[in-house]
Amino acid sequence: MAKHGPNILLTGTPGTGKTTLGQELAERTGLSYINVGDLAKEKNLYEGYDEEYNCNILDEDQVVDELEDHMENGGRIIDYHGCEFFPERWFDIVFVLRTDNTLLYTRLQERGYSGKKLEDNVQCEIFQTILEEAKDSYKPDIVHELQSNTPEEMEDNIEKIVLWIEKWKQDHLS
Ligand code: ADP
Ligand code: MN
Repeated sequence: MAKHGPNILLTGTPGTGKTTLGQELAERTGLSYINVGDLAKEKNLYEGYDEEYNCNILDEDQVVDELEDHMENGGRIIDYHGCEFFPERWFDIVFVLRTDNTLLYTRLQERGYSGKKLEDNVQCEIFQTILEEAKDSYKPDIVHELQSNTPEEMEDNIEKIVLWIEKWKQDHLS
């Protein structure tokens, strides 16, 4: 069965704005927004506990199984701070959100991050870890970096993605 809309991946270091962008996009386009972290929590898709970081370890195979039907239907916006374990075939386009280190530091502090967790996440952004992961996991021409420092940039990103979705629908559904 043909997909009824494109599948979009929003990825990037925690705090770069994936959830804000994804929810707003869903509202404006009618696509369905799925937060992988929330899904895992809701359905308990974990394979253990990380003592060092005090967080659950995602069961990636279970997450992929859980999402497969959604992705076959199409029209999904997926939000997660990693991307190498999703099947490459799922996504029509991948956006990697980027934020200036100092702004990100403040955002994560406001979220209550401190110590090693805060430092590691800011380092993840400095080293472009998620961007490299996305480039290694998907065809380079579908991976796009988006600056996400200001509300103006957020709005700009939303407008560009909305236009891209409209074009996808024209090309694939009519
Ligand atoms: P993520 O889902 O990637 O962890 P969030 O969407 O939760 O990030 O955003 C983290 C915080 O940063 C929120 O307080 C949000 O309002 C703010 N924020 C996100 N994107 C921007 C932006 N482009 N400009 C200003 N603030 C932003
Ligand atoms: Mn989020």
